[in-house]
Amino acid sequence: MTEREKSIGLLALLAKGLIIHDKSRATATLGDRREYVGMSDICKGYECLRSAVLSKAGYTLEVQPEEIDGLNHKGDLARVLSILRKKITLQRGHWQEPGLQAAFESAGMKVMPQLEINVKAHGVPIKAHLDFVLVWAGERPAVRAIESKSYARLKSELYPSYEVQLYGQLGLLAAVWNQPCFAMRDSAGNLLFEGLTFPAAVKRQFGVDMPMSAQEVDIEGWVLGLSMEDARAYGPYQPNQTMLRTCLGIAEKIWAAMQAVYEGNATAAQLPYAKGFYPLCDYCDNCGDCPKFQGVEHPEYEEMLTRLSALKDTEKALKEEIEELEKRLKNAYSQCNANGDWILSGGQRFRVTDAAGRKTLDQAILRAELRTALNGDEVAVEGLLQRSTKLGAPSSRLYTGKIKPETMAQENIAA
Ligand code: SF4
Repeated sequence: MTEREKSIGLLALLAKGLIIHDKSRATATLGDRREYVGMSDICKGYECLRSAVLSKAGYTLEVQPEEIDGLNHKGDLARVLSILRKKITLQRGHWQEPGLQAAFESAGMKVMPQLEINVKAHGVPIKAHLDFVLVWAGERPAVRAIESKSYARLKSELYPSYEVQLYGQLGLLAAVWNQPCFAMRDSAGNLLFEGLTFPAAVKRQFGVDMPMSAQEVDIEGWVLGLSMEDARAYGPYQPNQTMLRTCLGIAEKIWAAMQAVYEGNATAAQLPYAKGFYPLCDYCDNCGDCPKFQGVEHPEYEEMLTRLSALKDTEKALKEEIEELEKRLKNAYSQCNANGDWILSGGQRFRVTDAAGRKTLDQAILRAELRTALNGDEVAVEGLLQRSTKLGAPSSRLYTGKIKPETMAQENIAA
């Protein structure tokens, strides 16, 4: 066996293990996802009903562990890497959860990981899994629901669908606080308890008393975003009736569409999909034959598109390498005590200086100031803002994307 074959073999082994582990983890902790609508389905369905329904209804083609063996023997590194990258992206959030739990517990927190809430709303079974619930009892009882998200790079703003997911969790927590809707499992999926109210669940776990009414508790939700080297807390969010109704409405739509698909009254092509730009289309398991990307055939451009795609991959890899090197050199400079002087290195030199931040106009502050200056005359404010807004020359933008045969909806999979 060559070294190349050995290295592909190692990556293939990892890919196969991740596929098997992901399936058993999902079955043990989430059960049969076709039997209920989960908060992550609602999160997906908020942007795209088609994607939420097809992945739930089993229309998504999943790579089977046996396929990996074939790729390994063929030496198909590209396919092994493509499967591995996707699995890592999907699973790294789960890997970080035990570490976060240990950190919260080490900081003395009372933590309930993966608290489950089971409800039925308008006949639709709904389950929410809250990543971490931190509990403070005593005179000022408080609860913090934390949803952890793993990012390659942290974003300045949350995806709206993540907010919807958190609002759904908080809304349910407050709405069924004193109803026997709460359950919890250990990391292997064994049931620790079920059918308890929230105060009873807290009493069982920590032996402390919580108020019988959610109104008496300070409840907040946060999304904790983590990348490989950075963290950001997005929030706080509070339980909100309107947002809960929105979530339950999406759950109803997902459930109804699933039944229609099962009963043969709707096909994958007929389900409503996300209109306009939606960043997660690139990662969608059902993008191969999504009506959003239907068009006319012109095979003559394939070569150019393949070359462009390869160049963009190279550009991305180069940018990442440049950023990494710049970061290392900045660190090196700070350790050299050069105090603003150049550091000479062979035939080259470098130094680090402080640059002022970019100046931008805060539209919200400007609008508020103008409103005050113009005695609240909204028409005048908007007119003034419009007259001072410059529109750049229109430009064309090229969108490209790979068509992935493995993401065609599998209409023949039985419900
Ligand atoms: S490709 Fe985009 S629009 Fe189509 S199903 Fe997937 S997420 Fe929805």
